[in-house]
Amino acid sequence: MARVEAIHPMCLGHGLCEENAPEVFRVDKWGCVEVLDGDVPPELVARARNAVYRCPAKALLIDEG
Ligand code: SF4
Repeated sequence: MARVEAIHPMCLGHGLCEENAPEVFRVDKWGCVEVLDGDVPPELVARARNAVYRCPAKALLIDEG
């Protein structure tokens, strides 16, 4: 299982994370990312990783430990 976290002050509300992995990330009505479930199940890891690496603000972290 992988773990994701958001660095909220760095989020610019682009919404790419939600587009890539809506089961994991949501952008709230104030334009800030929200992690729906920090523990990412195996079937969603590839999409969560893609969202993390594509975040233009580098506001997401993934630990695949
Ligand atoms: S892609 Fe990055 S900057 Fe955009 S909403 Fe998601 S975390 Fe925030």
